[in-house]
This record gives sequence, C-alpha cells and structure tokens, in this order.
Amino acid sequence: MKLSAFPEEIRPHLLPAPGGKLVYRCLDCREEFGIAQLLYTCPNCGQVLLLHDQKFQQLLDRPPALWHRLFDYRKMLNVPALKGIYRYHEFIGPVIPLEAVVYLGEGHTPMIEVNANLQEQIGLQFFFKNDGQNPSASFKDRGMASALSYIHYLIDQNLASNVLAVCASTGDTSAAAALYAAYLHPHVKSAVLLPHKKVTPQQLSQPLGSGAAVFEIPGVFDDCMKVVERLSEQYPVALLNSKNAWRILGQESFAYEICQDLEYELQHKAVVIPVGNAGNLTAVMSGFLKFYQTGIIGELPKIIGVQSRHANPVYRYYQQTDAARRRFSPVAVKPSVAQAAMIGNPVSMPRVIRLVEQYDRLAGRQRVFFVEVEEQAIMDWQLKANRNGHIACTHGGESLAGLAAAVRQGYLSSREVAVLDSTAHALKFAGFQQMYFEQQFPPEFEISPDRALINTPMLVHPPDLSKVPAPGKPLHGNDLEKFVQRMADEIAGRLKLKKQKI
Ligand SMILES: *Cc1c(COP(=O)(O)O)cnc(C)c1O
Ligand SMILES: [Zn+2]
Repeated sequence: MKLSAFPEEIRPHLLPAPGGKLVYRCLDCREEFGIAQLLYTCPNCGQVLLLHDQKFQQLLDRPPALWHRLFDYRKMLNVPALKGIYRYHEFIGPVIPLEAVVYLGEGHTPMIEVNANLQEQIGLQFFFKNDGQNPSASFKDRGMASALSYIHYLIDQNLASNVLAVCASTGDTSAAAALYAAYLHPHVKSAVLLPHKKVTPQQLSQPLGSGAAVFEIPGVFDDCMKVVERLSEQYPVALLNSKNAWRILGQESFAYEICQDLEYELQHKAVVIPVGNAGNLTAVMSGFLKFYQTGIIGELPKIIGVQSRHANPVYRYYQQTDAARRRFSPVAVKPSVAQAAMIGNPVSMPRVIRLVEQYDRLAGRQRVFFVEVEEQAIMDWQLKANRNGHIACTHGGESLAGLAAAVRQGYLSSREVAVLDSTAHALKFAGFQQMYFEQQFPPEFEISPDRALINTPMLVHPPDLSKVPAPGKPLHGNDLEKFVQRMADEIAGRLKLKKQKI
C-alpha cells in the first residue's frame, strides 16, 4: 500500500527515522560504551555485553494501542527494509537508518497450528513457529540481519572497511553469517570455524557455497569458540557469534512476532525453546521484557527452556531451587541429534541468569522453567511432528519433547497454549533421520529406532519383467505398455489396493 493511502494519524510513525541512543552495557560492572566500535566483552571486566537504549523510556510516549496499529499497518508497506525484523525498528535497532538495513527475507515466519492428532497426544493447543523458513533455513538469520545491518551502517559511516566477519558454529551460525556477509561482497568477507565432522553435509555446503573461508577444527563447538575468541582479541575481525550483542537484538524479533500474531494477548501462553549457547533464550526473554515494559503486552508468557541430557548445563544450573546456592559449571557434551545445541559452556549464561531473575521478578512469580529430554524422545517426537505435517528438525523435535515433559511435570496445564520454536528446517538434519530409518545410530547416541516410525524406500523391479527403461533408453509400444501395467499392479499389490470396476 502507498504511504498516502494510510490513515493520517499513522503516517508520521510508519517510516522510522534513526532514533534512540544505543550503548553497550556490561552485565557486571554496568559500565556503558559507545557503539562506534565493535565490542564483544567489557574492556573493564571482561563480562559479556548487551545493547541498551538510553532513550528507551521515550518508547513509553506512544500508547500501546498505537504500537499495535503501527506494527499491523507496517505489514502493508512495500518498503523492503521494513519487511523483516526491522518492522520493530524502534526495538531492534533504532540507530540504524533504513538505507543500511540488509534484508534477505528473514523473519515473519509462519506460526502453524499443530494438527488435532498431535495436539491430542500432548494434551493442549500448540503451534510451531517455523524458523526453518528463514533464508538460510534457521533462526540465526534474524541475528545476522541485525549484525550485518550494523556493520553495513559502520561501513557507510566510514567507521569500518574491508571487514572480515568470523564465527565459530555448530553449523547454522556459519551458514547465516556467510550468507549475509556474501550479500555485502566485496566490502565484507567471512571465515567460519566448524568442529570437524560435527556439522551436517547440508550445513557445511552453505558457507562453502556462499564463498566463506571454512576451517574445520578438531574437538567440539566449545573448542572452536575458544579459538575464535582468541582471534577476535588479537586480530582485527568482526565476531559474529551470539557473544555479539547485535545478534541478540535481532533475535528478539522472534518474541515480537509471537506477540503480534497472538494479538498481543499473552495470558495463558507459553513459548518453548531449545537451548544451546543460550543466545536465543536470552533474546526471546529480552524481547518479551521490552514489550512488557512498554505496555505493548500486559503479561509475560511462560518460557520453557529445553536441553538434551547430552548437553544440559543450563538445566543443571536451575535444578538447584535455592537461587543463592546455584553454581554454574560447564559440562562435557556427548553426541546429540540436537547437534546445533550441543554446547557445554554457553556463552550467554551470564545473560540468562540475570534475565531469568528479572523476568520472574517482574511477573511476580516463576515464569521460566527448564526441562531435560532424552535423545530418544528428541528423535521420536521430531519424526512424529514430520508425520503430522510439520517441517521440524531435530531441534523442533527437542522443543516438542520438551513440551511433553513440561506437561508431564505440571509446568503447563491443558488450559494453556504453547508456541514451539522450530529453529531450523528438517532438511538440514536429514542425516539423523537416515540413521534412524537405517538403524545406524552409533551407541553413544542412545537411540533405538521405534519400528513404527521407520520408513525406507522400496525398489520396484519385478524379476519377471525383462525390459525396463533406463535414462536415454526409453521403452516403446508393447514393451512400454507391459512395463506400465506390471509396475502399476505391483505397486497396487504392495499397497493392498483392490482393482476398481470400470
Ligand atoms: C543455534 C541453534 C540452536 C541453539 O540456539 P542457542 O542460541 O545457541 O541457544 C537451536 N537450534 C538450531 C537449529 C540452531 O541453529
Ligand atoms: Zn564490565
């Protein structure tokens, strides 16, 4: 819709001008630092940072009803910069001018109601929010759109040039980083560090295809992270891991979209998230908090964080119910099908600890819960989700297994409605499905396939059929007729079909 066609009282707010005053703020010493340079940790004390808008209070000048209408009207605008995560510009990155926004089609992923069959098995109404429908097929694009828009802005301002963007990754971060960096070619180049043999072939193909320098490192993700941190301390590179606070800011859009899709009514709602490095959990809590503090939503939804028993440091931390006695300790991870969350020492843990405390305090009761699930449950629930029309990958399966566990443990009742983060597309992790169907899981995974869920292709080639077509060698006439009829009868036989009377 053209600008002139919008209601007069909305028009002045539709196209956001740069505003706000963003600073990096240290979580420990509370020191604030300007954003003219890339910072990942506090120069004073080394703690992780979050971006803080010093003019956040100004957002309260707009009444909640105006925000609701504004976000809805922005849906109708044909301005590319506002079609993605920057629909929420005032919250996502108010200092970024629209000309600097990198938009590759991320965000506004569909929230799909789960079919009646699966809802009945779980015992409440729920949705998958399909973040696998982002351009690089995972939610990481939300954070990269933000981080690369910021880098683009620095380049435009002559505050940066010839940027080398680096990240460590369990696969999806590097796919997203390489894609968004490639869009800014030749001003930005990218290099990614991956744990050798710990990413899927599909994930590996993505940064290779985008032209990134791809390094495979012995060990697991946590080892790659250490190397990339050292690189960012000693060399002029732009770190794109979720330690980078711009990533968190962009990923807050996931929470804002849920609010908008639910008409800003969050009572009796819960959001279920698989947790690895805990950047996503940080962003989602932070997003709901900002909408709550500005009155855009009147209630904070429950948050259910899910971890596999093979990589569960966050879950373990919250097992101690006495907050004063909680001590964080990293864990050594074991192989997990939720491979993108196979992280023993989450970088965002200090952020999580503070945000959970703030979230529960503002809500006036416990609203954040953690559950642990078995590898077996992750695989089984993923396959069941897929069999009921959903594109969930293993991590979406982890969300669903977590939902089932949360209901079992009484964290959720049948009156509540849940939104599950389906963080990536099933195709990225097709290898785990194959291992399941071919019963090839190495014992460390502790997964034994349920026969009822196994599905394998059936070759149809009746031994009595001497002539079959081959590429470049088609059949004709009687031979073709015999082939078609024989094959149709064979397939009908296997499907136990009865011939219709014509
Ligand atoms: C990165 C990732 C996760 C984990 O998110 P964190 O922010 O690291 O907690 C989960 N699922 C998928 C598919 C991912 O790529
Ligand atoms: Zn500090």
